[in-house]
Amino acid sequence: MEPNRIYLDYAASTPVDERVLKAMLPFFTEIYGNPSSTHFYGQQAEIALENSRQIVAQSLHSRIEEIVFTSCGTESDNLALRGVAFAQRRKKGSLRLLISPVEHHAVLHTAHDLERNYGFILEFLQVDEFGQVDPAEVESAIRTGTALVSVIYANNEIGTINPVAQIGSICRQKSVPFHTDAVQAAAHLPMNVERDQVDLMAIGAHKFYGPKGIGALYIRRGTDLDSTQTGGQQEAGLRAGTENIPYIVGLAEALRLAQQEVIERSSRLIPLRDRLIQGVLQMVPRARLTGHPSQRLPNHASFAFEGVDGNQLLILLDMAGFACSSGSACKVGTPQSSEILMAIGLSRAWSMGSLRVTLGKGTTPDQIDRFLQVLPGLVEKARTIPIRNTGELKYVR
Ligand SMILES: *Cc1c(COP(=O)(O)O)cnc(C)c1O
Repeated sequence: MEPNRIYLDYAASTPVDERVLKAMLPFFTEIYGNPSSTHFYGQQAEIALENSRQIVAQSLHSRIEEIVFTSCGTESDNLALRGVAFAQRRKKGSLRLLISPVEHHAVLHTAHDLERNYGFILEFLQVDEFGQVDPAEVESAIRTGTALVSVIYANNEIGTINPVAQIGSICRQKSVPFHTDAVQAAAHLPMNVERDQVDLMAIGAHKFYGPKGIGALYIRRGTDLDSTQTGGQQEAGLRAGTENIPYIVGLAEALRLAQQEVIERSSRLIPLRDRLIQGVLQMVPRARLTGHPSQRLPNHASFAFEGVDGNQLLILLDMAGFACSSGSACKVGTPQSSEILMAIGLSRAWSMGSLRVTLGKGTTPDQIDRFLQVLPGLVEKARTIPIRNTGELKYVR
């Protein structure tokens, strides 16, 4: 604990919940067998593994055998895209990948790689000014040869929630596999793969008070998917490698709690979020909200400030004790406007000055007030620092 520091970057990562840590601990030292082993120690580990799978399945309203554990949200997105793309090409010769322009890099860069190095064709859906995908747009963009649709459930950078259930219903009508990256959404919204008619859904534990380095992929029964990591027969042959039992137990417990407490967590955060948004828009000149005004994550506030270098603002905030983000934590340190802010049509003068403030368990009304006291001055100060222009948007690996 840092007494004079305030953490406002829960979309980047969260601390592990004490209850989650407690559930995990015995699996480091007491129940340490390999779940693939036949003996007693292996059986104990396997029971923990299958128990965790059942908890995850219940939390997402899926069948037990539809859950595959991976090493993180990024791996889940990779397995979904690559696994389905390869299977669709092999079975049907389908090569078209239809994705939104507001995907996390885990999806976007994977799709780029499939295009560059594996001969797939990448097509982008349109989004509106809030970064939202219109289901009608998905309907008209699907055509013969579409192998997969991927639309992020709730955006990490601008918080916008997509109409996933309607998109799911269209994809089902058209018999095209539908993947959604729910790594942010699973932390804050009630998840239900039946209601949403998704075929694949990625989650990662460290966004909902679980440990880093563990994720899961929901794969609807009957979805063709090639494994992309070969080796043993773990995870029904879809993801080779000895399962990380303590972390899987942690993911399951963290997801169970997030889903069980979803209403109380979000009803505490929404008023704090709205107070923050209103305060910033009132107190800071030439400021705007990015993302959807109402259909956004309960903990998520994101802004653009005209004529500000977002990285400079982050440094000033950090020096003042506030940990925020410019949007995605997975960014290099040079000032660049993000693909996402460009996709929602922000000009360069605005899109360089992005700020993401994401709230969580430790956030108090007092912290929001303190943030609002310092932000206007820091934005003005940042406006006196010239924006180091690095030219056009670079493709970041
Ligand atoms: C954090 C995040 C990821 C990546 O998850 P990791 O577990 O950190 O690999 C993918 N998609 C979204 C939307 C995220 O917020």
